[in-house]
Amino acid sequence: MNNVNDMNIVWLNDVNSGDVSLVGGKGASLGEMINIGLPVPGGFAVTATAFRRFLDETQIADKLFKFLEVNVDHDKELKKAEKEAKGLVLSTEMTDDIYKDIISAYKDLCKQEGKEVFVAVRSSATAEDLPGASFAGQQETFLNISGAEDVVLAVKKCWASLYEGRAIFYREKQGFDHSSVDISVIVQVLVDAKKAGVMFTSHPSTGEPKTIIEAAWGLGESVVSGGVSPDNYVINNKAKKIIEKVISSKEVMHIRDENGGVIKEAVPEERKEKQVLLENEILNLTEIGQIIEEHYGAPQDVEWVINGNKIYIVQSRPITTINNASESGVGASEESPEEIILEGIGASPGIGSGGVKIINDISELDKALEGDILVTKMTTPDMVPAMRRVAGIITNEGGLTCHAAIVSRELGTPAVVGTKKATKILEDGMVVTINGKRGIVYKGIIKKAAPSEDADQVVATRQKIITATEVKVNIDFPDLADKAAATGADGVGLLRVEHMILSLKKHPNAFIKEGKSAEYIGALTKDIGEVAEAFYPKPVWVRTLDAPTDEFRSMEGGIDEPEEDNPMLGWRGIRRDLTDVEHFRMELRAFKNLFDKGLTNVGIMLPLVQHPSELRQAKRIMVEEGLKIGTFDLGIMVETPGCALTIEDFIEEGLDFISFGTNDLTQYTLAVDRNNGNIAHLYNEQHKGVLKLIEYVIQKCKRAGVKTSICGQAGSSPEMARKLVEFGIDSISSNIDAVSDVRESVARAEQRMILDSVRNNGPDAI
Ligand code: PEP
Ligand code: MG
Repeated sequence: MNNVNDMNIVWLNDVNSGDVSLVGGKGASLGEMINIGLPVPGGFAVTATAFRRFLDETQIADKLFKFLEVNVDHDKELKKAEKEAKGLVLSTEMTDDIYKDIISAYKDLCKQEGKEVFVAVRSSATAEDLPGASFAGQQETFLNISGAEDVVLAVKKCWASLYEGRAIFYREKQGFDHSSVDISVIVQVLVDAKKAGVMFTSHPSTGEPKTIIEAAWGLGESVVSGGVSPDNYVINNKAKKIIEKVISSKEVMHIRDENGGVIKEAVPEERKEKQVLLENEILNLTEIGQIIEEHYGAPQDVEWVINGNKIYIVQSRPITTINNASESGVGASEESPEEIILEGIGASPGIGSGGVKIINDISELDKALEGDILVTKMTTPDMVPAMRRVAGIITNEGGLTCHAAIVSRELGTPAVVGTKKATKILEDGMVVTINGKRGIVYKGIIKKAAPSEDADQVVATRQKIITATEVKVNIDFPDLADKAAATGADGVGLLRVEHMILSLKKHPNAFIKEGKSAEYIGALTKDIGEVAEAFYPKPVWVRTLDAPTDEFRSMEGGIDEPEEDNPMLGWRGIRRDLTDVEHFRMELRAFKNLFDKGLTNVGIMLPLVQHPSELRQAKRIMVEEGLKIGTFDLGIMVETPGCALTIEDFIEEGLDFISFGTNDLTQYTLAVDRNNGNIAHLYNEQHKGVLKLIEYVIQKCKRAGVKTSICGQAGSSPEMARKLVEFGIDSISSNIDAVSDVRESVARAEQRMILDSVRNNGPDAI
């Protein structure tokens, strides 16, 4: 095996950018950077030849690629292909020569380092990161591996990850032949990073000569996975000057586990708000970034780590998003008015461009692909998987608090709702841009405006603001818990269980009928537990089921849901659980499991109560299920004028908190259906009638020592937040994207009140 292309193993310092077909994009770029003298941790690559040899010598290739012949637009087929292909790779034994070569290379690496080294084992696909396509994050990486056998196992897992569903989907859509994409695996000394992050050597959307650095504590995992809000520094490349710094609240970090693998833990209190990078580190990184950009002749997306005072570069690839207007973001340029084709309600901020896909029926959902604009009469809960992948959503019906609006805000997908006629005016394949903040749909692709040059002159540093009024976050999907926690919110003011239940695909009563209650309770325990752990010890108020009958009918076993003329006024909320007690008991058993696990930060919130007897009955059933009233937060949502006006009777019944569900409180006070786009102009959460009810309840609760909060959409409005602070509310729970604006508004309102008090009564007043 003298020819390098025949080798199973090559050392990183022996390769360069010409070796993509041998060591993949990542390996070639690391070798290239080592060769121009940049600080890159040493290691070797298990070559693409080794992978190809594995396929040939074990004769699994034909079978493997046959598994991939599926329609990738069908989720089920794609999942099946993934399962079969990965399973085949993992269960096929590695041939002897490859096995021995990996073991011996790892031992040599240990010898070079003078100890048994911990390594990062990273996939490097041979078609990776071409200028027009980023395969970023599609294949696996295993950090902190040690011991020859474990390294071999990790290599095998990297090979298998070439057949992850998302990778199969992406290759198919980008026109790559599966059998022509091989994989190399990089085994590289792991730097025990104390700080890590990413760096764009030019602005990632406008291409301006500005370096953007994101930094967080610990290994790079938290930044790359989006699990933490990193510090953000902007540097003017020409002037070599830091022009903006945003210091975020960094709640979690990933660190090496002494026994291998990586663990996530809370950032120590004193480092949460602290600036991660020193000024000289920022400038040194920028300089390295410029060397890399110059060397490659194109802006780069670089991953870096720092241990002690040494910077290491662990990855560099071309930025693939510059001038790509389909990226969602803010700041669209002023378009000429004739380009506007449709208007509605701006329900989820951001700009999204793509081809229209009209979905008339749930069976057509697979049509809406990544990067498309999903257009439909009104979204339903079963559309959530598509709502995650598309670039934007447009609906005929709905208002700010309809299902489509709530879900798309949480998923971060731009949305315009209540356009009345989107499905008539738009046509499949038409290219449009939506502005989810202003509620406008434009024809074609609208380019984002370049930020003004003046911005360079400003040096802005933002620290997390501490407010007396707590600012919490609403959440519906457990997989977004880390993202929600990264906002630094003071807890979860509303965790809706409906989406967890809908994602089980089977109606709760079907679980009961089939004698599978334990399975249902287990799933609820797991999903709620995920959120409770991400926020522990901050409070997480979980709302018991509040699903209108129409939303559950399409689930397996949901056929018995009653047909109601007006589901909004129907069998939902606590009234449903109190007549379908078996379901309520299952929820309570899940809560009991969580309390038994020590997740005492979980609180229970009852929706749509209108009479104190409902609270009384619910408490009785809780006691029957072994829950100890008084050991956890128990509260109700104030969503009906009846409840608001008789709040004293509820207080008498005994409760720890109330939370305003203004989405419902508004519709029931003003007689305006929150889902009806025709009357959306009348829907006003700040109507004097609604505000009076809120103020009245806060006053009564304050006197009785009951905590007050809000979790309706109104809590995400900075203007409403100001009013609520003036009323004396204890906490405000808003959408993930609104937490920081609301916090700012709360702080301003609190300071205004202190200032007014001093002005009126002198400094002794505070
Ligand atoms: C509300 O009514 O304000 C609320 C938060 O609950 P939902 O939107 O789920 O009805
Ligand atoms: Mg409600």
